[in-house]
Amino acid sequence: MKTYKNTLNYFFALVEALEQLPSIGKKSAQKMAYSLSVEDKYLALKIAHSIENAIDHIRKCQLCGGLSESEICEICLDENRQNGQLCVVLHPKDIFTIEEIGDFGGKYKVIEVLEKIDFTAFKNHIQENHIQEIIFAFSPTLANDAIMLFIEDKLQDLDLTFSKIAQGVPTGIGLENIDQLSLLRAFTSRVKL
Ligand SMILES: [Zn+2]
Repeated sequence: MKTYKNTLNYFFALVEALEQLPSIGKKSAQKMAYSLSVEDKYLALKIAHSIENAIDHIRKCQLCGGLSESEICEICLDENRQNGQLCVVLHPKDIFTIEEIGDFGGKYKVIEVLEKIDFTAFKNHIQENHIQEIIFAFSPTLANDAIMLFIEDKLQDLDLTFSKIAQGVPTGIGLENIDQLSLLRAFTSRVKL
């Protein structure tokens, strides 16, 4: 026997697809599916088009691992950002957070998966940009502290100082959830490792 749900295959396929997005539960997925397929079809098409463009054009910068629409991102190409500092973050989206403050004038390196870090390329990136200070912009957790120590150890043959952002960063909170003033303070009052 056909159930009502079975007659709405396209709708529930959309719900199921949306549910796979991070932090979207079943209820939100149903709400979004209704909104997209019934309430605002124009918005839905706009979103579909944006998704298609994003898939086609967005990639990771070959040097820093941040998001880019070309092989090398604007920040890596920017010769004015040669202040000797390299900010290490755990996710490309953390670059947005720090760039929004607008106070950091150095380069970045994204460390998404510790095991996948190519330290030869990382060291080249450091040397080519004349980096003297590595700033870890991680939220304070034991696991993140271990990552910092691991990286510091791997880079110890280079002449570098290491620091991490400090006060105002609550334990276990992602960078994007910290208000800008706290993050700015955390940057300026960073501590040596
Ligand atoms: Zn880059």
